[in-house]
Amino acid sequence: MEGEARESNWRHACRHLGLLMDRSLNSLSSDFRPKVVELLAQLTERGIAVRIVQTARTLEEHHANLTSGASTTALSKHLPRRLRGFPATDPDLDKVDAIDVCPYELYQLVGPDKLQWSDRASPQAQAAFAVIGEVGERLGLRWGGRWVRPHDPGHLELVLPAPPPPTMAA
Ligand SMILES: [Zn+2]
Repeated sequence: MEGEARESNWRHACRHLGLLMDRSLNSLSSDFRPKVVELLAQLTERGIAVRIVQTARTLEEHHANLTSGASTTALSKHLPRRLRGFPATDPDLDKVDAIDVCPYELYQLVGPDKLQWSDRASPQAQAAFAVIGEVGERLGLRWGGRWVRPHDPGHLELVLPAPPPPTMAA
């Protein structure tokens, strides 16, 4: 029991430090992943080093983000499609449609807490986030840098078609 609590505390600390967050590109949906790979390639070409901070999010992490104010949307695209009402036939039910990246220098200064990722932290951070947004939007992605609350300049997500209206069952 004591060991379990210690394990849980350790996991909690690691998650807080961002060490256990899912950063895998394989967690991204098949529509989104190639755009992210292209994004990362173009950022490299432009000389912008980024850290992938998170792709998929657990429900527990999502609720923690809602509490902290890091997220205000009930249906974050960091959650697997399964939890966002996609049909059971969707081949990417366990995949997500959002990624958080942080300019590497800023990440080294402030770590994984998104609330500390200000694009006004420094001229370098501002320039790096601007390029992240520019490249992401050119790839057709939605950029969190356009949002006000929360302003989320490290967030990029796939623009999904509006869901079809519910069919009237006879
Ligand atoms: Zn995000």
